[in-house]
Amino acid sequence: MTSQSPLPDSHAGGVLTIDTDAIAANWSLLASQLASGCSCAATIKADAYGTGAKITSKRLWDEGCTTFCVALPGEALEVRKVLPQAKIYVLDGLFPDTAETLASNSLVPVLGSEEEIREWAGFCRTAGQAFPAAIHIDTGMNRLGLRPEQFSSIMGDATLINSFSLDLLLTHLACGSDPNHPMNGRQLSAFREVTAPFSQIPRSLANSAGVLMGKEFHFDMARPGISLYGGKALDTQANTMAAVARVEARVMTVRSVPAGETVGYAASRTARRDTRIAMVAAGYADGMLRLTGSTDASEGGYGWIEGHIAPLFGRISMDMMALDVTDVPQGVVKRGSLVEILGPNVAASDLASYAQTIDYEYLTGLGKRYRRHYGRLPAPGARPGD
Ligand SMILES: *Cc1c(COP(=O)(O)O)cnc(C)c1O
Repeated sequence: MTSQSPLPDSHAGGVLTIDTDAIAANWSLLASQLASGCSCAATIKADAYGTGAKITSKRLWDEGCTTFCVALPGEALEVRKVLPQAKIYVLDGLFPDTAETLASNSLVPVLGSEEEIREWAGFCRTAGQAFPAAIHIDTGMNRLGLRPEQFSSIMGDATLINSFSLDLLLTHLACGSDPNHPMNGRQLSAFREVTAPFSQIPRSLANSAGVLMGKEFHFDMARPGISLYGGKALDTQANTMAAVARVEARVMTVRSVPAGETVGYAASRTARRDTRIAMVAAGYADGMLRLTGSTDASEGGYGWIEGHIAPLFGRISMDMMALDVTDVPQGVVKRGSLVEILGPNVAASDLASYAQTIDYEYLTGLGKRYRRHYGRLPAPGARPGD
């Protein structure tokens, strides 16, 4: 295992282990499911969903992935440092005053408006070189991209379009997490229709959900993100991707709480029996979303230790949270123990559902205080010594 901080684990509230082999395996699995002729890129924005963009992208490159998508110019530059040969798309498009930097680092903007197209074309003309770019077509999401009619009309302006090298047409699903949503079919048809006259230009529609929804969504390049990181892309089916991150938080103390008393801020959860509570050193400053806690009115998330589930008890504080370990055999949880609070046995999507959010938010928000390791994760259910 490699480490970034000189301090031993014992000094940290928790240990975050990231398994880049599992990320690579998830990528290979997705790539193997693609329609023939469709290549698999990897979306590594937001520091590869919290897993570390440089390390993760390098591992994916070694697995055979050659194309990457980031959100921001700064993210693209970071990845360029470790992958001099990779194709890197900047999904958020062309920010003002970045064309020079992008072009000189062979980074490819995904142009999302007429203004961006005109700026990139102008830059290329001045430079005397047709640098590559993609165009984002908005098929209904109304976030980024040209509306179909706008796209068709701008493609008629040959001087403009031929100023740069248009190497990909892209659109993005608004409701991919629900495969039954009628918007998916509408976006698919709109994308097919508006791109039909340009059959020589590769097309890309599928994020993770698009990959899992089937071959008609695949086109020439898929760009999954969340599935690579073990996340749940479709609400309607069980998640088969391997977990890639595990957070183990340290037990500071184990205490007895008599029935009728409450634990933590706002006294939100009352002990209905004499309760054994383990206080662990991770809180919302570490990305444990506050709403994942429990109250008298609602259940919350849980931790896992050596095969035992320990429900969250009461609200999550900034630096700590309480787990109910009454049903965990005596001696398993003690001062200094590490309890899994996210990982192969504690799905991020589960925790997220208690906080009315999605695992994307959990993974990207894990925070900076954990001691970070890269290494293999245990299989679900595996206990120390297994
Ligand atoms: C984030 C993003 C992706 C990856 O989406 P996942 O749902 O994480 O697979 C792909 N394409 C675009 C345009 C994105 O913004």
